[in-house]
Amino acid sequence: MARVEDSPWAIPVAQIASRAGQSKPVDADFPAPSGIGDNIVGIKEGAPVHVSGQFDSIVDGLIFTGRLVAPFVSECTRCLKPIDEDWPVNVTVFFPYESAADKNAARGGKGKGGKSGKDEEVEIFAGEDESEDTYPLLENGAFADIEAMIRDTLVESLPLQPLCKPDCKGLCSQCGVDLNENPEHHHESTDIRFAGLAALKAQLEAEQGE
Ligand SMILES: [Zn+2]
Ligand SMILES: [Zn+2]
Repeated sequence: MARVEDSPWAIPVAQIASRAGQSKPVDADFPAPSGIGDNIVGIKEGAPVHVSGQFDSIVDGLIFTGRLVAPFVSECTRCLKPIDEDWPVNVTVFFPYESAADKNAARGGKGKGGKSGKDEEVEIFAGEDESEDTYPLLENGAFADIEAMIRDTLVESLPLQPLCKPDCKGLCSQCGVDLNENPEHHHESTDIRFAGLAALKAQLEAEQGE
């Protein structure tokens, strides 16, 4: 069976989980988990996702605050040009200790006694942070597994209608010419509603001429 520490997404956090008020910086690449978008719009499985930020320990768990930058692949919904860009997303998530027992285990049993008012603290935290994103710690708080955090954060942030640039002019609706490259492009027909009829007329005339 695979061990937690062998996961490419498991970050050892036992040192800071030992007591509140400590932090651990993260600044490294992690492989993109599967399931972020699809082949057309998304982030390829295994592509490097740069994670920077830090874990901060509070009484009831660890808060991760940072930024993900992932290579985003898609195509422009207007001109169909491939888009290949770094996609930055800010993230704040919470890794709660499952129970006091987990916290004590993370302390290695040498903590300075139990902390009362645990439920109260959870409520305070929930009030401070609007985000509902929480992820479990593994191995009694020894590891934070950020696979789901990476996937969820990137999936939520993927654009529904990616554009190569905000003012992309797209393609000509009649002939498909890229209007970004041919800004002067237009057709003789003054009303595009008649363009199809004009084309049909030309086709009929051509057939009659044969
Ligand atoms: Zn475009
Ligand atoms: Zn055209």
